[in-house]
Amino acid sequence: MADSELPTRPKPETNEAAAPAAEGAESKSASKNALKKAAKDKAKAEKAAARAAQEKAQAAAQDANDTAKDLYGPIPETEDVIPTTRFSEFSDDSYEKEVTVVARVDNARVQSAKLAFLMLRQQGQKVQAVIAAAEPISRQMIKYTGGLNVNSIVQVTGIVKKPEVPISSATLSHLELHIRKVYMISEAAQQLPMQVKDAERPPPETTDEGAQVDAEGAPIVTLKTRLDNRVLDLQTETSQAITQISSGVAELFTEYMIKSGSRWIFTPKLVGAATEGGSNVFEVKYFKRSGYLAQSPQLYKQMCIAGDMESVFEVAPVFRAEDSNTHRHLTEFVGLDFEKTFHAHYHEVLDFAEDLLVFILTQLKERYGAQIANIQKSYPKAGDFKLPKDGKALRLNYMDGLALLKEAGVDMSEQERFENDFTTAMEKQLGQIIRDKYDTDFYVLDKFPMSVRPFYTKADPKDPRFSNSYDFFMRGEEIMSGAQRIHNIDELEASMRSKGLDPTQEGFEDYLNAFRQGCPPHAGGGLGLNRIVMFFLGLPNVRLASLFPRDPQRLRP
Ligand code: ATP
Ligand code: MG
Repeated sequence: MADSELPTRPKPETNEAAAPAAEGAESKSASKNALKKAAKDKAKAEKAAARAAQEKAQAAAQDANDTAKDLYGPIPETEDVIPTTRFSEFSDDSYEKEVTVVARVDNARVQSAKLAFLMLRQQGQKVQAVIAAAEPISRQMIKYTGGLNVNSIVQVTGIVKKPEVPISSATLSHLELHIRKVYMISEAAQQLPMQVKDAERPPPETTDEGAQVDAEGAPIVTLKTRLDNRVLDLQTETSQAITQISSGVAELFTEYMIKSGSRWIFTPKLVGAATEGGSNVFEVKYFKRSGYLAQSPQLYKQMCIAGDMESVFEVAPVFRAEDSNTHRHLTEFVGLDFEKTFHAHYHEVLDFAEDLLVFILTQLKERYGAQIANIQKSYPKAGDFKLPKDGKALRLNYMDGLALLKEAGVDMSEQERFENDFTTAMEKQLGQIIRDKYDTDFYVLDKFPMSVRPFYTKADPKDPRFSNSYDFFMRGEEIMSGAQRIHNIDELEASMRSKGLDPTQEGFEDYLNAFRQGCPPHAGGGLGLNRIVMFFLGLPNVRLASLFPRDPQRLRP
């Protein structure tokens, strides 16, 4: 039999239709079914379209009926400057007045068809706003207001009222905004990677990897999550206060320096040689050669002194390529540096530096009391920072510190005393001993062993095993190192050799020439701004005191 006599089969279009032979008749009914289904689908789609059109028409009709339709929604374009009020400007005079504010939506909540609440936030400060149905406010406007995406930035106009009971969840608990208008300025995504309110609570001290919620059932936000989402984290009341304190430390340091007649300098951060120990510097490509990121402004500060600037200071980034994964080390931090000439004794500069710190710490308390109180709500453990009662810094010699530790049972061998600096644990223990004995969280150790200090440090003329160098401590941890510097070229070269450095090495020439050409006696110091903020506030981690922290694991955001 020829193939042509066989009935021709329709070419299968789907896998279902390509089923085995016996289906001749069934396949016909299958295609009938498919047709039926298509018709059904079409009817369904037509119905849906009709419904949507009807809804649209209804919405348009409602819109036309919406007595508030111009009072909410996307912000209308205008050529006018609209005067707005900051939360910080509210006072008793604000009651019953109409104000316009621009703020973030901290929380939005519909209470009923006729009532909704907004919590508004400006720089961490919260004010409650309420909207109730009463001509011309419509139900649509209430639904819109209560349904705003959290973290959106809105412009709200309303009357300032005194609530019957203070609003405990608001920062300004004695006022409430009765909304008249609410416009969207910048809408936040519906899903945020973390809620700002969840970052208001301090991060857990130990991270139980599995735990998602705390004892009260609130989501746990780890330090890593916060730092990964730092822009949201910066919006919390605590972060706002910490960044204000950082600003305050830089401001007070600068204020004290300028008042003393010191000059603000700006030294290069791209340098040609790794002069202060090669292993700690970041190497960068510099056209066809290598450059380095400055690990301190030390040599430049001194060259400025040689350049006849009697007193200089700088506020600038400092880079350290140390693989230190600790609570107090960053790879980039904010350095507060100063260098100053003296006449007879380096203690003239040490007195100056001690007064500087007492000034900064006292004034922080004076000017930033509200912020400190706020931060203590999240980090209460460390308690108030204790300053010396007489306004004078407590100064001990390094050997006195050792003696205090020895009394407490911590002893160093004779050799260890001269070869090693205090360990972090010893520093902390000494801090506790001094707090108990002298009732202060700030103190100074003078006269460190020469062996633990850098080559440019001046040895103690009376006992060259020691040096005219000092460290400052807050809550038992280092915040500053400083010293008298060698200004005599022969002494400087000898000191370099004794530390295994070659004065003829590339990069030292310009520095050493400054001393060959004559340089007055001088001393100075380098402080870490992030550490001052961290220890002053008793924060558990320096990363909390850095805007966008850089550490060996983190180079973003
Ligand atoms: P540490 O012993 O704590 O590592 P250091 O003695 O190496 O500090 P210095 O070179 O003396 O530090 O720097 C001067 C100041 O700069 C320090 O007292 C500290 O306040 C700050 N600082 C130093 N290294 C860091 C760092 N990695 N991260 C943050 N701040 C730092
Ligand atoms: Mg140091």
